[in-house]
Amino acid sequence: MAEPIGAQRGTRDILPPEIQAWQLMEAIARDAFSRYDFAEIRIPAFEATELFARGIGGETDIVGKEMYTFTDRGGRQISLRPEGTAGVVRAYLEHKLYAGPLPLKVWYQGPMFRYERPQKGRQRQFHQIGVEVFGSAEPTADAEAIALARDFYQGLFEEISRRRPGADLPELVVQINTLGDDRCRPAYRVSLQEYFRSHASGYCEDCQRRMETNPLRVLDCKVPSCEMLNGAAPTLEPCPDCQVHFDAVRELLSAAEVPFEWNARLVRGLDYYTRTVFEIVPRGASKFGQSTVCAGGRYDRLVSDLGGPPTPAFGWALGQERVADLVLAALDDTSATEAGLPLAVGPLAPEATVQAFQLALQLRRRGLAVALLPQASKPDKHLKAAVRLGAHYLALLGADELARGEVTLRDLHARQQQSVAASAAALSAAMAGPQPAPAAP
Ligand SMILES: [Zn+2]
Ligand SMILES: [Zn+2]
Repeated sequence: MAEPIGAQRGTRDILPPEIQAWQLMEAIARDAFSRYDFAEIRIPAFEATELFARGIGGETDIVGKEMYTFTDRGGRQISLRPEGTAGVVRAYLEHKLYAGPLPLKVWYQGPMFRYERPQKGRQRQFHQIGVEVFGSAEPTADAEAIALARDFYQGLFEEISRRRPGADLPELVVQINTLGDDRCRPAYRVSLQEYFRSHASGYCEDCQRRMETNPLRVLDCKVPSCEMLNGAAPTLEPCPDCQVHFDAVRELLSAAEVPFEWNARLVRGLDYYTRTVFEIVPRGASKFGQSTVCAGGRYDRLVSDLGGPPTPAFGWALGQERVADLVLAALDDTSATEAGLPLAVGPLAPEATVQAFQLALQLRRRGLAVALLPQASKPDKHLKAAVRLGAHYLALLGADELARGEVTLRDLHARQQQSVAASAAALSAAMAGPQPAPAAP
């Protein structure tokens, strides 16, 4: 036998029990998006490498070290998308969506690709859900998008608590900051750079390089000695306009009853952010740790940097692997994610196979989820299979039943059974109707 081929490092299969956590998260996200009037957009998984270099920034780790980049058979430089925003902006420009009604509010979902060291919750192929808002410079756009992210988690946690009362769920807090704009950021850059240079020897090698090329990025470093020095680094002095904007965002979040904290050292790992940036983090000691569960911000220059008309914008993304882990941990196991199956149908004799097949299909066409036990066998075997599938009812068709035009319907929860006419309508009615009579001894 040939050696089986395994999945690639940094990729994983999401198998049926786990997929229910993903479907739950995606259903709740869809529901939140439609209530906030966001439309779905689907964009390609690969784009010109240049798009990411210009959009995300050539100095970032994402573009510099982590992209899956290759030359295709036509000689084009292609990259698998490492994030969603650049592609959505490209689509916005390519289809001149700026000529339509603004603000344009879209969401996306799908796989992203980064060549990173795989670890828990971090894969080379990972999945994100994200939103982008184009054409509004108003603080309401920032606050609305942040409130949407919070409402998504609120809805998810409510559903988890409904399925598993008392589930261990973290308290989520929005951390928010302003990175200023073209008027106030240059001065901040300079004062940061002065501070970093005067403490250069205490910083890691990466930071010593970053402090010259992109000093804001130094604040993102997770090396402990760098983090300690960053604690005393200067904070941004917003210009009056940026201050007014930031105050308004915070007032709106308070009005929306979204708990938040101002974290003056919060920066994001991408070059394009202006003014508001935010992260949602679990607070306190919980098994969910401290890692960010949603992040984003305002990017008022990106659209014009990519060749479009000046367009203020705001967006965020969340990593689905992390959320799926959280859902599964909170539910303790996957059984609580399963809705169960109403009915299994099994033939007791080969001559009943066609009727069992037909009955199962008729019931499915009436809207019922039905498992067909394909092979004729004894009642005990079918019973075991139906229990394993989590079926509520089991319909059995044998030679005797066929002769009478009936099936035996067993209620596996109530441990009762009755004879029912062998039709989809009669079976549906019996399953919906009053409790069947006790089984004959
Ligand atoms: Zn560092
Ligand atoms: Zn400013």
